[in-house]
Amino acid sequence: MNIILKGSPVANAIKQQVAQRISAVRQTVTLGIIRFGEKPSDLYYEKNIQKTCSSIGMNSQVIVFKKTAFSHVEKKINAIVNAADIHGIVLFSPLPPMIDSRAIYQMIPVEKDIDGLNMHTAGALYTGGSCTFPPCTADACLALLKFYNIDLPGKYCVIIGRSLTVGKPLSLLLLNENATVTICHSHTKQLAQMTRQADILITAIGQARMITAEFVNKNQTVLDVGINADPHRPGCYCGDVDFEQVSPIVKRITPVPGGIGSITTAILCEHTFTAFQQQSTADTK
Ligand code: NDP
Repeated sequence: MNIILKGSPVANAIKQQVAQRISAVRQTVTLGIIRFGEKPSDLYYEKNIQKTCSSIGMNSQVIVFKKTAFSHVEKKINAIVNAADIHGIVLFSPLPPMIDSRAIYQMIPVEKDIDGLNMHTAGALYTGGSCTFPPCTADACLALLKFYNIDLPGKYCVIIGRSLTVGKPLSLLLLNENATVTICHSHTKQLAQMTRQADILITAIGQARMITAEFVNKNQTVLDVGINADPHRPGCYCGDVDFEQVSPIVKRITPVPGGIGSITTAILCEHTFTAFQQQSTADTK
């Protein structure tokens, strides 16, 4: 029998814990959300983040850059990221092509870099450093695996996707848990042959329903990170996995929607609260 690994119990447990921690400190904890333009996917994500924040008593502040303001971006971002009353920063990517993304990411102070965007944060993850935050989606995958007690030491994990926000950081998080990890991408040969060998298959591809029966095995746990416009149902979203075809075969699988995506925003809030605590401790030293 296959098991559907829903994201909501994981997200609810995280949110409940963060809400309790916020109410205990009796201070305003603020997440800064930086958005460029009006992309529908960014607006959708932003709405979800704001909803989650208000449900747990966290403040959120949205900073929008419209096209006309692009030339002043660096100066304005500098002021925002260094504002003492903003404790964590999330920045929707990809940034518009005329903006130097790397330069912007570097402007986020490490202690507020709750979505693991700048090089110091990535370096800390690479070297096993503490007190920094892995990208939220990668951390959400790990949170789900832990919540459902899915064993990682010695397990063979195959990740499809090597982005800086999902595939690469997740490979390091899994490695830190003593899993054996392979990353696949668009140049990987005989992809299905590789993915079939995995104990845990994680897809972060951005290709609707690409993963079909030939990519999986019956003992597998499948985490579908993809959020794609569903070609069969206009206005709806689907994952990278053909859920109808794959879910009856594998042992466990996350749905889309209702899987990893719902945990990501909860993790974002958890990271923000931890950042707030670390900043408060640093201030009192
Ligand atoms: P990117 O476009 O940055 O990366 C996609 C990766 O998939 C690349 O490494 C690419 O390979 C690989 N890829 C693309 N096509 C193929 C193919 N046919 N075969 C094998 N590999 C392929 O995407 P992201 O990592 O940002 O996002 C991936 C998916 O996850 C998207 O659907 C996105 O919407 C979703 N997402 C979900 C989040 C959540 O909270 N659930 C948060 C962030 C993203 P190559 O490097 O060679 O180009």
